[in-house]
Amino acid sequence: MTHTDVIVIGGGPAGSTVATRLAQRQRSVHLFEKERFPRFHIGESLLPCSIPLFDELGVLPALTDGRFLPKYAAEFVTGDGAKRQRYPFADGLIAGSPSAFEVDRGEFDELLLAHAAESGVTVEQETQVLRFDCDLARGVEVVVRRADGREERHTAEFLVDASGQSALLPSRLGLREMEADLRNFAVFSHFEGAERQMGLAEGDISVVLVDEGWWWIIPLRGDRTSVGLVGPAKTLRGEKPGEEFLRARIAATPYVAQRLAKATRIAPVRTISDWSYRSREMAGDRWLLVGDAGAFIDPVFSTGVQLGLSAAFDAARCIDGALASRRFGRAEFVGYERRMRRLVATYTDFVKGFYTPEFGELLLHPTDKLGLRAAITSLLAGHGNRTLGMSVRVALFHLLARMHRRVPFVSRRPGSASLHA
Ligand SMILES: Cc1cc2nc3c(=O)[nH]c(=O)nc-3n(C[C@H](O)[C@H](O)[C@H](O)COP(=O)(O)OP(=O)(O)OC[C@H]3O[C@@H](n4cnc5c(N)ncnc54)[C@H](O)[C@@H]3O)c2cc1C
Repeated sequence: MTHTDVIVIGGGPAGSTVATRLAQRQRSVHLFEKERFPRFHIGESLLPCSIPLFDELGVLPALTDGRFLPKYAAEFVTGDGAKRQRYPFADGLIAGSPSAFEVDRGEFDELLLAHAAESGVTVEQETQVLRFDCDLARGVEVVVRRADGREERHTAEFLVDASGQSALLPSRLGLREMEADLRNFAVFSHFEGAERQMGLAEGDISVVLVDEGWWWIIPLRGDRTSVGLVGPAKTLRGEKPGEEFLRARIAATPYVAQRLAKATRIAPVRTISDWSYRSREMAGDRWLLVGDAGAFIDPVFSTGVQLGLSAAFDAARCIDGALASRRFGRAEFVGYERRMRRLVATYTDFVKGFYTPEFGELLLHPTDKLGLRAAITSLLAGHGNRTLGMSVRVALFHLLARMHRRVPFVSRRPGSASLHA
């Protein structure tokens, strides 16, 4: 049994970041990760907003040493490839890094976790947290199970749940709320030999708009490309989204089929569904949630890792303050909860808008007037509604989308007429 200031459940980007930040503040941290890294994880496209956070964390030199592909823009494309719109991050309304990375998450997560260990965190892999108890007066106790089946107790002053979609605390405490409007599935794999764009556009993420949802095409370093389809679960009508499903949908989407014409699938076809949820509370007496454990909306704007990192930075500051004042009650963390909710809400509105056809049509024909295009670019870079200027412009974009629904002022996407009904 050990006693530390903080126990962290989960060694993904959110868990390793909060642990590192606390260790950098001289706090003792014990992190338990149930898998052995490197392990596969989806979520390969990062956002420019994360770059200053990587810098502060101390991992930027390792990220820029050539192992990950730089990403300078996001592009939106129609399924037939006829209309494309590129959003270079350098053109954003808010100044910041002009690029991010496309990453193999096995390698990326391992790098962050190794950095946590180098920073002084006690990292234990293949160790699953089974149970926890958080008591304001007594402290925190967890029970873990090691790879050989042994169970152990560990105690701490504070508990951070960074267990990703397992959302251990919200699930056990009955705090998890599914997002009914976003019951989506994803089916995806990796390919070798896919067609790439040239020069600075090589690392662009392509978001391909189709009637049944959208595709991602994410080029990774070397010759590997991640390709996936996301759509409403109800459109499956009992069909299993496996290998044959993916093959048929690729063949039916000219732009994706063309990019993959000479490609070979080099990984299993994976599926995942129903991932949009949030926890009713982001913190309680002696505990707090970071990353997907707290909320996850939808991957369309590649916000998952960025939201997890910024939550981790914020959480580390709050926990450090609580350890200094010895005040661990939920009331100490309501500011953290409010900030997390606001960030998640900005992107939830945008994601829900995205699933209306008019939104996609505006993204394909953005206006430069009133700095609207620049504001959308900053949102795509991960800046959220950080300034009044951003909030006003994003609200205006939503308004334009509603107006466009009634009276089209840019061309409709081919075949989308039924979606506007
Ligand atoms: C289809 C899809 C596509 C996506 N695409 C993107 C993208 O392009 N860009 C992006 O930024 N995000 C994307 N995301 C989201 C991204 O994957 C997540 O937001 C991100 O991984 C969250 O990081 P995390 O650290 O909170 O959780 P995770 O990365 O999931 O890490 C949680 C860790 O906790 C461990 N764990 C769980 N339970 C326990 C336990 N009881 N004990 C010990 N350890 C435990 C797990 O093994 C895991 O390693 C996508 C998500 C989906 C579903």
